[in-house]
Amino acid sequence: STQIRLAAYPVGEPGDDAYETVTVELPELADGQVLLRTIYLSLDPYMRGRMSTAKSYAEPVALGEVMVGATVCEVVASRSPDRAVGDVVLAYTGWQTHAVVPARHTRRLDPEAAPVSTALGVLGMPGFTAYGGLLEIGRPQPGETVVVAAATGPVGSAVGQIARVKGARAVGIAGGPEKCRVLVDELGFDAAVDHRSPTFVEDLAAATPDGIDVYFENVGGHVTEAVLRRLNRFARIPVCGVVAWYNATAAPEGPDQFPAFLRRILTLSLTVRGFIQDEFVPTHQEAFLSDMSGWVRDGVVRYQEDVVDGLENAPEAFRGLLRGAYLGKLLVQVGDD
Ligand code: NDP
Repeated sequence: STQIRLAAYPVGEPGDDAYETVTVELPELADGQVLLRTIYLSLDPYMRGRMSTAKSYAEPVALGEVMVGATVCEVVASRSPDRAVGDVVLAYTGWQTHAVVPARHTRRLDPEAAPVSTALGVLGMPGFTAYGGLLEIGRPQPGETVVVAAATGPVGSAVGQIARVKGARAVGIAGGPEKCRVLVDELGFDAAVDHRSPTFVEDLAAATPDGIDVYFENVGGHVTEAVLRRLNRFARIPVCGVVAWYNATAAPEGPDQFPAFLRRILTLSLTVRGFIQDEFVPTHQEAFLSDMSGWVRDGVVRYQEDVVDGLENAPEAFRGLLRGAYLGKLLVQVGDD
């Protein structure tokens, strides 16, 4: 197996020196194990947190270990009665071309039901994040306004489209005119606002004439500052991620916003709640799989993917992910479909 391992904990944007590439012999299969060949590796913003020893909800990747990540793989050898050679499975084998894992750590995918790559995006963890966070914490009501940033990405695009299924108005925030065009023309958002535009603050006001009832927080930074001024009484804020700060090496410049934020929580009776998606598995997983596969099948929820060819390009692709270089769900094609 060719593996990309974590070589150092990066400061700021992870450079090539954060990684080392090695090729290793894999062990013989033991009972219950399968040998997997990676087809797609998912790149996700949370991986930046795993490259840091700062205290978080999950342990960092140890130096010298393979970088973690969800994968779609083909079974190439099996010593488990539950998996046959040729099965395509969802696994968590990380940044490598092959892996030996217990069969029970894999979930079989049905290539007839949906393209297998969707298990890493709209029908997988990011789609589930949108579904759980929006429905459990955001609770959009018909006629309300839901705002989400990183809106063309796998989480944001699902948030906006699910909000519309629930009868709410969806306003997406994204970087650049092309992403904004896709939001309205292809993903069915009611409005899109470019956060890189010099008129961003005014554009957001124009796109939210009735204020904001749900702000699904994906980014932090200047986007959040602008959104906070538009919130209605009783607004809900599911705090999902703050990707604007994942590579940060210092506290944001300027005055401390915290006192004003706390005062706004009080005076507007806001609900602000963070979450890590797996806390919703017991309560929402089944409904998610059935609702979302139906919506995707019927074209009610659409998705976009960006596929980068070759495991060796994963470090550069990961830098691009945090910078906003990609529009849809970012996947690395590690081996042939
Ligand atoms: P995306 O594929 O959407 O990628 C991140 C996007 O963030 C970029 O494309 C870019 O879009 C945007 N972005 C980057 N920097 C900034 C900035 N300074 N200001 C505004 N936008 C910025 O990511 P995902 O859909 O995979 O994830 C979205 C969020 O959800 C992340 O914060 C992630 O950590 C979080 N998450 C949380 C989970 C949980 O359990 N709580 C689970 C899964 C994801 P653009 O070009 O439009 O600005």
